[in-house]
Amino acid sequence: MNTAALLFRSSRGGAPPLPLSAALAQGLAPDGGLYVPGSWPRLTAADFSGAAGLAEVGGRLLAPFAAGDALAPRLQQILNEAFNFPAPCVALDTDGRLAVLELFHGPTAAFKDFGARFLAGAFTRLRAPGARPLTILVATSGDTGGAVAAAFHGRPGINVVVLFPKGLVSRTQERQLTCWDGNVRSLAVRGTFDDCQRLVKEAFLDTQLRAGTELSSANSINLGRLLPQSVYYAASSLAILREHGEPASFIIPSGNLGNALACLWARQVGLPIADVVLAHNANRSVPDYLQSGEWQPRASIATLASAMDVGNPSNLERLRALYPQLAGLRAAVSAVTVSDAQIRERIRQGYAQYGQIWCPHTATAAEAWQRLPQALRAARRWVLVATAHAGKFPEIVEPLIGRAVPVPPSLAALFARPTHSVEVDASLASLRAVLEEQS
Ligand SMILES: *Cc1c(COP(=O)(O)O)cnc(C)c1O
Repeated sequence: MNTAALLFRSSRGGAPPLPLSAALAQGLAPDGGLYVPGSWPRLTAADFSGAAGLAEVGGRLLAPFAAGDALAPRLQQILNEAFNFPAPCVALDTDGRLAVLELFHGPTAAFKDFGARFLAGAFTRLRAPGARPLTILVATSGDTGGAVAAAFHGRPGINVVVLFPKGLVSRTQERQLTCWDGNVRSLAVRGTFDDCQRLVKEAFLDTQLRAGTELSSANSINLGRLLPQSVYYAASSLAILREHGEPASFIIPSGNLGNALACLWARQVGLPIADVVLAHNANRSVPDYLQSGEWQPRASIATLASAMDVGNPSNLERLRALYPQLAGLRAAVSAVTVSDAQIRERIRQGYAQYGQIWCPHTATAAEAWQRLPQALRAARRWVLVATAHAGKFPEIVEPLIGRAVPVPPSLAALFARPTHSVEVDASLASLRAVLEEQS
């Protein structure tokens, strides 16, 4: 294993490479690009022998990325604290060739708890005593904001501003975005998720704003969100390899592609991962790109799987940085698009066939599996990535399965809190006014 410092470079190549903690603090690279590993550590299954549990697997996986960095001595502690809930991989078929990786056992019942909690732990430990307060900007299509708010709520010296598209997240999601107080504020932006994301990017590139307020991001553009998500791919693929002697293939409900990149990075490092399928909703920029070879970002459209309503995924830059040639990209991943009608049908079938209650996002992955050629289904060990608990989407799921969805206790506690948010226009001037008022 290489113990020299590993540096992260900008996907646009116009900014100096940085070690992990500096890249986390920057969020977006100064040239507008996203940080990606400048070189790849190589690990084999043997490097994980004896590692039990997510936090321990995470320590072995992330140590080479943190080598030589200020975070290195604190990495295991951050992981122990952040990854304190399980990510079980539940077999569905009688022959066990299909499984569901449940990433929804954290405080806000979606996979984003993993990255948000890791980032909160890292930021807290990286802050110098007596430093200026840090403001974390986060654009959310539904689950990010809730996870980040929960992870940072009550942390001293850190403020959080959550931007979500007004009226375009589910009622229950909106409750999770707006049930905070103290150091967390929620902005209902009159626009789409893409507008929210654009505003965050503009804020970071605004030198005047940055002079007055210390900004950082907690979106999946932040390396500190993305990198720790590799851990559950490592842990589940290693468990499948140990048990069955085969690599795992993942079908990932995708929007901004942060979760998918985490899987591809785990495979790049050497984890036993075979095929990776990106399941998109009707926002089909990525499936169309793989098919046509032409990148055409689009405005996002509203679907049942609203956390995936992204027309211009920012992590596409990381995908292209990893596979610069179209042929290489096509060999590395495939992508499908799933309509709302198909999502509904898959939620019904999942309950009827397997007794599973899937959220609309998870149902896109189940639909993608259903569409695989029979021979390919039989040739791999497929893992559907369950990105959220169905209890976050009762309005959609309950009528389809004809019963109430149990709400996990952590969510029930959030739902009991009073809500508040401020409505703003989708303009940098409006965001600036809010930020300047806060600092
Ligand atoms: C955010 C989210 C997704 C999409 O993940 P990306 O990393 O943006 O591709 C899918 N499902 C749920 C439930 C989410 O919250």
